[in-house]
Amino acid sequence: MIRRAAGADPRRPDRAAGAAGVSMSPTLGERWGKNGNMQLLASYLSGSWSVGSGSKVTLVNPSTEEPLAEVHAGGHDLTGAFGYARTTGGRELGQLTFAQRGALLAGLAKAIHGAREELIALAIANGGNTRSDAKFDIDGGALALSHYAELGARLGEAQLIADGEPIQVGRTARMAGQHVWVRQRGVALHINAFNFPSWGLCEKLACALLAGMPVITKPATATALVAHRLVELFANLLPAGALQLLVGPPGWLLDHLGPGDVVAFTGGSDTARMLRTHPGIVAHSVRLNIEADSLNAAILAPDVALSDETGGLFLADVVRDLTQKTGQKCTAIRRVLVPADRFAEVADAVRERLVRVTVGDPAREGIGMGPLATAQQRDDVRAGIARLAAATDALHGGTGEIDPIGVPAGKGYFIGPVVRATQSPMTCAPLHEHEIFGPVTTLCAYDGQPAFAAEFVARGEGCLVSSAYSDDRDWVGKFVTAAAPWTGRLYLGSSKMAAQSPGPGTVLPSLLHGGPGRAGGGEELGGERGLHRYMQRCALEGDASILKSLIGA
Ligand code: NAP
Repeated sequence: MIRRAAGADPRRPDRAAGAAGVSMSPTLGERWGKNGNMQLLASYLSGSWSVGSGSKVTLVNPSTEEPLAEVHAGGHDLTGAFGYARTTGGRELGQLTFAQRGALLAGLAKAIHGAREELIALAIANGGNTRSDAKFDIDGGALALSHYAELGARLGEAQLIADGEPIQVGRTARMAGQHVWVRQRGVALHINAFNFPSWGLCEKLACALLAGMPVITKPATATALVAHRLVELFANLLPAGALQLLVGPPGWLLDHLGPGDVVAFTGGSDTARMLRTHPGIVAHSVRLNIEADSLNAAILAPDVALSDETGGLFLADVVRDLTQKTGQKCTAIRRVLVPADRFAEVADAVRERLVRVTVGDPAREGIGMGPLATAQQRDDVRAGIARLAAATDALHGGTGEIDPIGVPAGKGYFIGPVVRATQSPMTCAPLHEHEIFGPVTTLCAYDGQPAFAAEFVARGEGCLVSSAYSDDRDWVGKFVTAAAPWTGRLYLGSSKMAAQSPGPGTVLPSLLHGGPGRAGGGEELGGERGLHRYMQRCALEGDASILKSLIGA
């Protein structure tokens, strides 16, 4: 049972009409700001599209600096939006079973497939993505939705999830205990980073909606065109109040949080620090999930030859993570550890692959790497390279100066791939202290011992993912036990899995995404675990037969 927002036209899911300040879906040319016809982005709040008011922020094409769209910095009724989610959205989703919510997610995935080319074009224009980068983000979003659609079907016509088996708590089996997960009452506020406007929106949305929580999503302003279009596509496919969009700066968004709400944040550690102590979050014990900075490591074990399958996988992963999305991936490999006696060989192989990478306007054919997403990003990356350059040697790309292909002179936020090197990784402070969110990595030498490799991972003070490449089970066993506490995911590259590996940089909906310490301490996805962020665990205590009937056993 899907209720449509008042005034929406069910024949045109990309249009919601009837409210003052409504944004109609423009054509692609208008959307990109051609002919001076700049699009003013609208937020989707309380069931209608409204453009807000006040000063404006301009979204640009990071390759050409051409303005693409504008968005007002405020002027929205956020009190109304939170109330609408809590009442209308919560009620509508609360009437549905997991199977019905899963069916909604399947519809969203289908909508992405139907608009795939348009979304890719937006990601190229507004995100500086190559076509391949754009597909990674957009298809990744659809994959997360499909995964949770299937989970919804498996969870079936229920509204509770059993957590473990019944436990005898009385003198006889008649008196029992049973833990259950039940949907949390409140609003799921999703705040996303600029680098994955599709995947970030969809992976959080899939978990919250399947759990039964209404969502207010806030994409990063600079690259919001893809997320904005997604919500245009999704709005009329969902029950009223299930999904709202705030596009533009956050303003006083967090001041509207209350009991039962959940905040899922992806972004920088400075913003995360502010969120942790925000009075609205502290006062109401609002559940907060943080995905922040990460200094992911890749380790080559001494048993691997670069010419074998495991060695080839290692090289491919290192080079892909350096260049894919111009290094703006939270899971990208920032620190590479190789045995000292193989250092020169690895350096040569990496360099040889990188000289073939073409950097320029990703709208052109044959470009392998686009610009950084914003001028701020470029400046931050330059500052990071300068810090690293003071403590490391140059191996490839100097400090990132580049003459990009097909770009007007002096335009665009480009930095070329940079590889730095050090023989003393443990004493190289900038390597372990600061995430450079761009196409930069550092090659480091070690003695080949698993204990050293694990300590190297730990120096990052908490990663989202780290990877080790080895076919020596003894080496892997020693490394995993010591390194696993410092990383949310450990990717173990070996010859047997090399042919079907997606690489450490790909987040899978079936596995946890998140990491300890610097990475924020959060957990997203991981199949059914991803729903738990949006559900309350409750211990039921009573007659065993009643408890069994409640969980459908
Ligand atoms: P950011 O500046 O922290 O922004 C992230 C989001 O927070 C944006 O939507 C931003 O909105 C919003 N925001 C900023 N100030 C806020 C406030 N006071 N209240 C509420 N929301 C606020 O980070 P970014 O530059 O977009 O992303 C880069 C960082 O994200 C990198 O450091 C990277 O490590 C991290 N990242 C982590 C993961 C992960 O999964 N762990 C994934 C991707 C990126 P505006 O855009 O409107 O300012």
